[in-house]
This record gives sequence, structure tokens and C-alpha cells, in this order.
Amino acid sequence: MSNCAIVGINWGDEGKGRMVDLLTESYDIVVRYQGGGNAGHTVINEYGKNALHLLPSGIFRKGVMNILGNGVAVDLENLWDEMEQVRKNGVPLSPENLMISTRASLLLPWHREQDGLEEARLADKKYGSTKQGIAPFYADKYAKKTILAGELFNEERLLAHAKDLWEWKELTRTGVYHAEPKPFEELAAWLKKYAEIFKPYIQDTTVYLRDAIAADKKVLFEAQLGSLRDLDYGIHPYTTSSNTIAAYAPIGSGAPFAKLDRIVGVVKAYSSCVGEGPFTCEWFDEKAEQLRTAGEEFGAKTGRPRRVGPLDIVATRYGVAAQAATEIALTKMDVLSYMKEIPVCTHYMLDGKQTDEFPFPADLERALPVEEMMPGWGCDISGIRKWEDLPKEAQDYVLFVEKAIGCRISYVSVGPERDAYIKR
Ligand code: GDP
Repeated sequence: MSNCAIVGINWGDEGKGRMVDLLTESYDIVVRYQGGGNAGHTVINEYGKNALHLLPSGIFRKGVMNILGNGVAVDLENLWDEMEQVRKNGVPLSPENLMISTRASLLLPWHREQDGLEEARLADKKYGSTKQGIAPFYADKYAKKTILAGELFNEERLLAHAKDLWEWKELTRTGVYHAEPKPFEELAAWLKKYAEIFKPYIQDTTVYLRDAIAADKKVLFEAQLGSLRDLDYGIHPYTTSSNTIAAYAPIGSGAPFAKLDRIVGVVKAYSSCVGEGPFTCEWFDEKAEQLRTAGEEFGAKTGRPRRVGPLDIVATRYGVAAQAATEIALTKMDVLSYMKEIPVCTHYMLDGKQTDEFPFPADLERALPVEEMMPGWGCDISGIRKWEDLPKEAQDYVLFVEKAIGCRISYVSVGPERDAYIKR
């Protein structure tokens, strides 16, 4: 069992970072393969509480190499700030444990600006972007209008390429959005500054991974967000702009030859969702407030209150299939302890008919949840470390979910700390 992907099954924020931090113990390399600094993994371990946005969650383990693969939106400015923050907490960071792929495209300051300008233009039709420039970045990447990290090594060629892109981008900035013109020198200075800092970290990670895999090193692929935010399989257009599913891991990591032996899908014991878009099982008012507070559901990047609701079996089953998950980590079970009865969204009603299939995105807005109640366990379970010590009602909840989503639950997490979990 050499290669493993840890992926989100739902809308993101399932606790992937916590699972990567736990499982890195058995792996040599952790690779981020998509997304950018728009989401956040919160990891609590001997270095305290760290919110990671771009750094792979393996950076807390000695001897683990962390890679930002070619599929990642590499924002060098934010990455540097994040590295400084994490270093302050005592985490060693150097080219010894962090690499950036030469083939990773750079997210430039204009992507962040364009994201904000577009959200402002959309006004009340906005998608709920985190304004980190992710959508404009991936649009430019697919239009082949980005700079690759490996281009930072040849300044003359880099500046010539950057100038072409700047001329093109100014047309959009000033023509479409009526923004003030910006001199090329600003971009050139930014590129030179970050080239100096990051050159030692930029490597041909495909060669590195090829040799590592040939030498039997174990690779962990770390996803951002979840199945329902996948560009192709998610709730279009409220998805992210990259592929969050495990099938993309080999491509976005720089190891298209890698086989995934194990795909750990992370599911939260209830649902949460950040931003706009249909969220069928959503709760409102006091009920929602209570769950949000119990689960501390506020965005790691934006601090925005997350939308919450009960576990959604229909969406989760779809997410498990999209990820081809081989096993599940069910997180935040401890959060449900305050409930007398545990609600689960078991089916949807769509146009008067009950359905178990996750609807086509444009139909999802009309779906209504069908909730069932499970008995609660009525006690604190955060100190429990063995399956047989879990109250029967908690065991029954896990077994019910396992059967309903059709995938074995092999970890039950009962707290944010590294050791707060039960292995089944
Ligand atoms: P990610 O982006 O999928 O890594 O998820 P986030 O980091 O955004 O959200 C997960 C949050 O829940 C973090 O603050 C974790 O510390 C916390 N967490 C993870 N697992 C558990 C758990 O089992 N119980 C509790 N109470 N908190 C958890």
C-alpha cells in the first residue's frame, strides 16, 4: 500500500488537514495537487494550532518532503507570509522539506484583484469567492497565459514573457473593469523579489517523484475542498476552478504514472458549506446557530460563518463515488454529543418524488431534504480511543452511515488533536 490520497467527500472543511497530519506518520512525501490559498486546513499538534492555506499538511513531520504540484495555484506572496507564520510557531521550513514544481503556474497579484473586481460586478449574483484569485488564475492557466515557477530561473526570458502577459491583462483590467492602469515595473519587481526567495525551492518534482516511487517511497496526495466543489463533478457553478477528486491527484501532483492504492475520503458527522449555492440539508435560526457554535464552523481563511445542517447521505454517497473512496474517516463525531436525537438527511424530494440520486446541478435548487432521527448518546465521547468504548448509540450512528454511503468507515475522529481518534 504505497500511495494514498486524502480527499474531501462533501463541500470541504471535513477535517482533511487533521487526517493528513495523522497519517503522514506512515508516508515519506505529501503532495498538494490542486487549488490554492483559498481554503484552509487547521492542524493541531505539538506546534500548536496552525491554519494552512497552501502548505501541505505534512510539514509538521520530520523527514517528510512536502510538494506543491503543478496543479496548484502557487501564490508566492501568500505562501511566503504563511511560511513566516508557521516558522514563528517553530516549524522548520527549507528546501529540505518543501518543494515547488517547476511546472506549477504562478498566481499573480492581478488574479486576486480580478477576482474582487468580478465579484463586485456580479453584486447580488456573486458566487461567494474567497477573492484569492483562484477562478481568474485557472481561467488564465487553461488559456496558457500564466508564468510557470521554473521560468523564474531565466530573468531575461521571464520579463519578456511577463511583459506580453501584462499587455494582455491590462486590456481586461482597464477595458472590462475600468481599473487604473498599472506600470509593468510593478509586476517585474514582484517577480524579481519572489524569484530570489523561492528559487531554492523550485525543482523538477516529476523527476523527484519518479525516483522516489521507484525507490518505494510512500506518497500521500492531499486535496483541498471536496467532491461537491469539483470543477467537473460538483455543484456547478458553485464549484472551485480545479479538480478536487482523487482521479486528478496523479496529474496535478507531477506523478501521472502514480497509482492510488488507498483513497481515504473524509466525511464530517454533519454537513457544512461555505459560500453561495444550493445546500439542500441546510438548517437555519437557533438550531443552526447551536450546531455552528458546537462545531466551531467559521472559515479558516475568511472567518465567515459556515452554513450547517445534518449529515447528507445523498450528497455523501455521490461524493464517495466521485472520489472512488476505498475507506472513510468520519470526523467531528464529538460535536454531535449535545444532541438528544441525531438527524440525518436520508433522501431528497425532487418535484414531488423521493430520490436517492444526487440531482443535476440546475435541479438541485428544487431538491428538499427528508430527515430521519437516530438516538443520541448523551455523553462526552472526546476522550474515547477504542471502538468498544463508544456508546452503542454512537456505534449505531457510524454503522448506519457506513451502510448508507456504501463505504467502510475506518477512522472515527472525536477531537481536533492528533490522537483524538478511533481506528476500526
Ligand atoms: P479541512 O480543510 O478539510 O482540513 O478542514 P478544516 O480545517 O477547515 O476544518 C476542520 C476543523 O475541525 C479544524 O478546525 C479541525 O481542527 C477540527 N477538527 C477536525 N477533526 C475534528 C474532530 O474530530 N472533532 C472536533 N471537535 N474538531 C475536529
